[in-house]
Amino acid sequence: MSLKELDPELAGVLQKELERQRNTVELIASENFVPEEILLVMGSVPTNKYAEGYPGRRYYGGNQYIDEIERLAIERAKQLFGAEHANVQPLSGCPANLAAYAAFLEPGDKILGMSLASGGHLSHGYKMSITGKYYRGIAYDVDPETETLDYDAILEQARREKPRMIVCGASAYPRIIDFKAFKEIADDVGAYLMADIAHIAGLVAAGLHPSPVPYCDVVTTTTHKTLKGPRSGLIMCKQEHAKKIDRAVFPMLQGGPHEHTIAAKALCFKLAMRPEFKEYQAQVVKNAKAMAEVFLDHGYRLVTGGTDNHLLLVDVAQKGIGGKQAQDALEEVGITVNKNMIPFDKRKPVDPSGIRIGTPAITTRGMKEDAAARIAELVVKVLENVDDASVKERVAGEVRELLEEYPLYPGLSYA
Ligand SMILES: *Cc1c(COP(=O)(O)O)cnc(C)c1O
Repeated sequence: MSLKELDPELAGVLQKELERQRNTVELIASENFVPEEILLVMGSVPTNKYAEGYPGRRYYGGNQYIDEIERLAIERAKQLFGAEHANVQPLSGCPANLAAYAAFLEPGDKILGMSLASGGHLSHGYKMSITGKYYRGIAYDVDPETETLDYDAILEQARREKPRMIVCGASAYPRIIDFKAFKEIADDVGAYLMADIAHIAGLVAAGLHPSPVPYCDVVTTTTHKTLKGPRSGLIMCKQEHAKKIDRAVFPMLQGGPHEHTIAAKALCFKLAMRPEFKEYQAQVVKNAKAMAEVFLDHGYRLVTGGTDNHLLLVDVAQKGIGGKQAQDALEEVGITVNKNMIPFDKRKPVDPSGIRIGTPAITTRGMKEDAAARIAELVVKVLENVDDASVKERVAGEVRELLEEYPLYPGLSYA
């Protein structure tokens, strides 16, 4: 029986979501479109299997092929990132981070991570997150002038605060992160160093952003952002920490691993070793730079003045609009972005001063600099006419026209 016959209601909603993805310009920096083969593997039979434990050491029988799947994923992750040890079981980015903390820290220990407004993530010890309840989160900011990381200031703060762990990595930082500088800071104060490369993992894998792996005690990531794999997580560490990390993931935090997703991660890591993946990541960066130029040409202020990676932060408040208003107006024309805080933001997180724009998803659809620049022009047009229905209607038409040239999952249908 087809899904459509079995559950027309659900099939209909899945179809609507597929159409939404096809008919919008996706500029959310943390999103991407996985290859159809990844979709296929995510829906494969390992979902039926309990495999608590690790390859060769399972609590249930019948895991000979599951072990092969997980070993493939582990070996490929190690090869891709040059890591000594990989744990492929974390369910997503936040669970990976929590496991990394649980491996190294005791409740109450201090974590020094990047502030939310500077581009950090909730899971880096922020008070609304469990990571800020079990651990004491302290935040470093970027430099108020340059809006880039100030390693001397972070060193000073680390010496003052004496954190047990320093976390580097961000969700909204458009520049290169100097992991070696973080390592020197961590060594100076005797702290563990963790890098969370959730956003930039694809760039790191492609060699377009320096790798934290040589410098960090532990590196966590999601696999579904620039890495273009299934929605999931990954932890890598030095061999000396392998047991601690594995015990933290299971049995401390998780039960049965999602082996169908681990299988999809194995495929994701293989694809990320291909030359085409490098070319893709290089295009992601080129597209971000092309968009940045358009905004600058129109007099917009970009946080840090530009971008070195897959994202940019546009200060829309400087043009007299709120981040939420900008996000909503763009959604009306079929362009999805997210409102985002900017460093030292004076507005509230629910309606901050910026929008974050990323190029991984449009690049997966095949767009090059010309299309990226055209989209940036459309964004500007909407931002300058947030209340003008006729302008928005015209832009919506142009968005639909543009997208027709870049089909998404052409053979796929749920209803
Ligand atoms: C996206 C992100 C996460 C969280 O990942 P989830 O899969 O949403 O749990 C963690 N850290 C950083 C830096 C991120 O950007």
